[in-house]
Amino acid sequence: MTYDDCGALFRRQAYVGGTWIDADDGQTVTVTNPANGEVIGTVPALGAAEVERAIQSARDGFRLWRDKTASQRAEALRRWHGLILDHRAVLARILTTEQGKPLAEAEAEVDATASFFLWFAEEARRVYGDIVPAPRQGQRILVTKEPVGVCAAITPWNFPLSMIARKAAPAVAAGCSIIIKPAEATPFSALALAVLAEKAGIPAGVFNVVTGPARVVGGTLMDSPVVRKVTFTGSTPIGKLLMRQAADTVKRVSMELGGNAPLIVFEDADLDRAVTGIMQSKFRNAGQTCICSNRIFVQDGIYDAVVEKLVRAIEALRIGNGLEEGVTMGPMIDPRAVADVDKLVQDAVTAGASVAKGGKRHPQGDSFYEPTLLTDVTPSMSVASEEIFGPVAPIIRFSTEEEVIELANDTPFGLASYFYTQDLARAWRVSGALEYGMVGLNEVAISVVEAPFGGFKESGVGREGSRHGIDEYVEIKYVNMGGL
Ligand code: ADP
Repeated sequence: MTYDDCGALFRRQAYVGGTWIDADDGQTVTVTNPANGEVIGTVPALGAAEVERAIQSARDGFRLWRDKTASQRAEALRRWHGLILDHRAVLARILTTEQGKPLAEAEAEVDATASFFLWFAEEARRVYGDIVPAPRQGQRILVTKEPVGVCAAITPWNFPLSMIARKAAPAVAAGCSIIIKPAEATPFSALALAVLAEKAGIPAGVFNVVTGPARVVGGTLMDSPVVRKVTFTGSTPIGKLLMRQAADTVKRVSMELGGNAPLIVFEDADLDRAVTGIMQSKFRNAGQTCICSNRIFVQDGIYDAVVEKLVRAIEALRIGNGLEEGVTMGPMIDPRAVADVDKLVQDAVTAGASVAKGGKRHPQGDSFYEPTLLTDVTPSMSVASEEIFGPVAPIIRFSTEEEVIELANDTPFGLASYFYTQDLARAWRVSGALEYGMVGLNEVAISVVEAPFGGFKESGVGREGSRHGIDEYVEIKYVNMGGL
């Protein structure tokens, strides 16, 4: 990918206070294409001083932005939404080149990204307060909602655009300013979004993108008393670290962390629909999503039939560079991710699991792993207790509903869960019993802007999307008027 391919959207500088900057010392981070290891370009490795300047710019941006009317903010978000769709093809190309997912998935991510800007453009105008009956004569109680202030967003590489949209759109809608720290592997998508923010007329300082090493950039954001809120999507260990760091300045936090999603197939399920669901929820983005099914529980009587259908479905996948026509599964993010997944598979095999398909590195390149199906998996194996984050489907046998509910909930995580059944009473029972923030019943496409996305337990704090998403970016103020 070159400047010529992607034009003005492919930027190699950070975006701070409405200007494009390099690191003071000229240091850079190199970004490579996971499909072939080629260098795509470099971005600035910013230091604490530049990040501090970004925080000051965001403070100035916030002061200006909070005083705009809700409809002025909505209008800017709508323009941003339109520009994202106008540049769909180029954004998808940048995304696939740095992240690896097939182009069709990247295009779907661009659409999802745009949908957050439109949704929160609409929600910006509905940040209502209350007038509450007062306890005394001559008194009035007014409740209003105000923007939290300067926000910091630390985002992952698996959805380089939409994880930013889920945070930036409600923040900007509420009247906050925001500083994005994208993952080191995927900064170009974030910078492309900044180009479009500028074009959409988002004022200087309201939306900023700072690139560079996580510890320096993240640490400066976390230490600053000016930053009033941190929103993070990523692993549970880093989420816990950020929560600890946030404690020193009592920042508001919202966290979308790891998952260990169960997907349960009962004997009364529509098996073809279940198999399609398993394939989508497991192999999308090469298994690198926090809501990927991680433990697939299949009831005794249909176990062999489901395994057989899955083997055939996996054989139909086409592995390769996501930019190539017809490819349905791209590389993983880097060779280290491949090594981690391979270790989980080898440990499972040592502990007694069987490889029904795949089970090894893919000859396409260092970052590729074969789509893998493991049978005879037991809940105690590390492949079932840890988040896999790769294209490996472990199948666990179960016999009763009671048993599988117990197994499904036996994890510190509580993000997504799925089950397949045609029995109405079971549908109600099981969706009530699953200790998860999200339940897909005969459905795996659960991540939609209209619904609240988030987890129970160690999977996170707060919700993104839906009418609740903007609550994370407002403070409640109450005014008590007496002597009236
Ligand atoms: P993943 O496993 O998806 O890479 P991580 O939690 O490691 O998830 O990373 C998600 C985001 O958190 C990335 O933007 C990464 O740069 C950032 N990050 C990682 N370590 C730190 C840290 N110590 N401080 C701040 N941000 C960090």
